[in-house]
Amino acid sequence: MSAAPFDKIALVGIGLIGGSIALAARRAGLAKKIVAATRRAETAEAANRLKLVDHCGTDPAQACKEADLVIVCTPVGACGEVAKAIAPVLKKGCIVSDVGSVKQAVIKAMAPHLPADIHFVPAHPVAGTENSGPEAAFAELFDGRWTILTPLPGCDPKAVDRLEAFWKGLGSQVDRLDPAHHDRILAITSHLPHLIAYTIVGTADDLGGHLNAEVLRFAAGGFRDFTRIAASDPTMWRDVFLNNRDAVLEVLARFQEDLFYLQRAIRWGEGDKLFDLFTRTREIRRALIHLNQA
Ligand code: NAP
Repeated sequence: MSAAPFDKIALVGIGLIGGSIALAARRAGLAKKIVAATRRAETAEAANRLKLVDHCGTDPAQACKEADLVIVCTPVGACGEVAKAIAPVLKKGCIVSDVGSVKQAVIKAMAPHLPADIHFVPAHPVAGTENSGPEAAFAELFDGRWTILTPLPGCDPKAVDRLEAFWKGLGSQVDRLDPAHHDRILAITSHLPHLIAYTIVGTADDLGGHLNAEVLRFAAGGFRDFTRIAASDPTMWRDVFLNNRDAVLEVLARFQEDLFYLQRAIRWGEGDKLFDLFTRTREIRRALIHLNQA
């Protein structure tokens, strides 16, 4: 499946993900014209200065006029409002997609606003960094990483295939999942780890006096790695937890049980339990390296 270029792509939101899509699409010649719209004038200015797109303004409806592909790249909590704003101008037959880290809530927020004569194909590139804004964008972000499409029943298969070819053109590998399944998997692989990182760094920061200063001074591998994750964008992650509440609470309950198991093993000196778990988890890291996803 090769990606035929789109005449006009419109990106609503031009931070790390929107900007990287623009750069990767241009690298692969996937669009004749790429425009964007963002909320604040200073972000539009940065996107134009960095030449991420042909033009970036602050009016989403203006940007989406005549577009063949529209990708909403805002925080999850803003997707519904964006869909409402762009719905009246969407070209018949265009593909509308998003990049939100949560799928069910985004579909629920966007779908009711979108006209019946467009193709709505939600997507989530499982690629990112802790940096945000247009300056953080780079063309290689999606290379070799996965993008998950969560098409709705009844969606035109040709539109889904076209979006799949587009993401492959951006360098990504592509898979398709049911939205609820996506949200449960991401709750354990991405959302819970972020919550743990935010907690650990917050706990360290709450330690008073000397202890706090020494934590920062002697930040060794483990803690340092958590601070990187815990530096991720607060708006984006607030929206992720509020919008994937059920799946996150479910894995959090499991996680708490497992943590108590380890707490007990440490208290009672049950080294074999610790050793067995640490051996099993080491294998998971090795499997990831083998799959090129480390
Ligand atoms: P980002 O760098 O912070 O960029 C966000 C963009 O959305 C900016 O253009 C921002 O506009 C705009 N925006 C923010 N709040 C808005 C609002 N209330 N209404 C309209 N526009 C708004 O964020 P990002 O990292 O690219 O993330 C964008 C989406 O990608 C999120 O849904 C996130 O879940 C998803 N995602 C992120 C990652 C990651 O690692 N970062 C990975 C995969 C998927 P202004 O700057 O003009 O305010």
